[in-house]
Amino acid sequence: MDDSYRRIPLWSNVSPEDWEDWHWQLRNRIYTVDQLRQVISLTPDEEEACAKKQGRLVMAIPPYWAALMDREDPKCPIRQQGVPRMEEFSIGPHDMRDPCGEDTDMPVPGLVHRYPDRVLFLVTEQCAMYCRHCTRRRLVGENHGLMSAYEGTFEYLRKHTEVRDVLISGGDPLMMTDVRLGQVLARLREIPHLEFIRIGSRTPVTMPQRVTPEFCEVLKKYKPIWMSLHFCHPKEVSPRVKQAMDMLAESGVPLGSQTVLLKGVNDEPEIMKKLMHELLKARVRPYYIYQCDMAQGITHFRTAVNKGLEIMQALRGHTSGYAVPTYVVDGPGGGGKIPLSPNYVVSTKEGVVTLRNFEGKIYTYYEPGAGAPEMIPAMAGAGKNGNGHKANGNGLHLGEPIPDYIP
Ligand code: SF4
Repeated sequence: MDDSYRRIPLWSNVSPEDWEDWHWQLRNRIYTVDQLRQVISLTPDEEEACAKKQGRLVMAIPPYWAALMDREDPKCPIRQQGVPRMEEFSIGPHDMRDPCGEDTDMPVPGLVHRYPDRVLFLVTEQCAMYCRHCTRRRLVGENHGLMSAYEGTFEYLRKHTEVRDVLISGGDPLMMTDVRLGQVLARLREIPHLEFIRIGSRTPVTMPQRVTPEFCEVLKKYKPIWMSLHFCHPKEVSPRVKQAMDMLAESGVPLGSQTVLLKGVNDEPEIMKKLMHELLKARVRPYYIYQCDMAQGITHFRTAVNKGLEIMQALRGHTSGYAVPTYVVDGPGGGGKIPLSPNYVVSTKEGVVTLRNFEGKIYTYYEPGAGAPEMIPAMAGAGKNGNGHKANGNGLHLGEPIPDYIP
């Protein structure tokens, strides 16, 4: 068992048994600037932001996560996601309290029903750690009264037979006890038209001790249960987290990851590629990369959309397809997920589709009914099938790289 946490004076006397107990991890989360000072060298900005208690998302950092932070480097990706900064107190002109418009799509408190056949079931306001980039910061960490009135939710779901997919989220559902979570799963399994049940959670990443054999038994009992995890940086896929992923995968739980594109944390193609590779090695399928929402107090984490396209360009074709997630922007105000991709279609004309591949080389696809190559102006002068050799009507040379993707 890794006991390297003992090099940190605050935990030098903690036994490995306590360290591995998720209840101990929860009870001993870092809430104050005095505690945090014993783990990392705080910058003046971090000192000031941590000392302020009002006007920002609550701070709570499990010892496991704190021990992963770089003591001296304020740019450490683990540290940036857990430690408040003064930028959180700035509200930009486009920032929104509820950037995904969830509150307006709640037929009963805590149940978001936006898409035709699926719902989001918010079961708790609590999280193991409060991520500084949280888009649902209006709801989490304190009691805001918007969480699910469970009976109302179950009644709604029983009546709405068009719903076949439930994502249990929060906050973080893994803050519930195994017994409570089991009760929720049992109630959902009683509703015959619910075919697909997922749990959205960041806890296996921020506090992997929560993944216990008893928890895995609950998931097995109500199988198939899928899990959507939330990973943002390759450093998060630690040996301890891999152990937790193994337990989940061995319990038959399909695992996916949602990643938020965060400035200064993962907004480099090489970092993102490394993350995707580490996830696959841990049997977690990269599912989405989210453009950071326009939530209040997280503008400093936002990047240009072109940065996301650049990252997708660097992934698609350059690595295994399983390592390429879908890049989405959540339409501000309630538009739902809008997928974005670099444009690989150069032109379409009279059944002739001119495409570029991941290397920027040009290829031609003939749709059914397209004329013979000599009849098609765009292909005049092309070779046998036009692919990979000569110039097309757009002045582009087939098989030659074009300089950049077309956003
Ligand atoms: S675990 Fe999820 S809901 Fe909780 S603070 Fe982090 S991002 Fe927000």
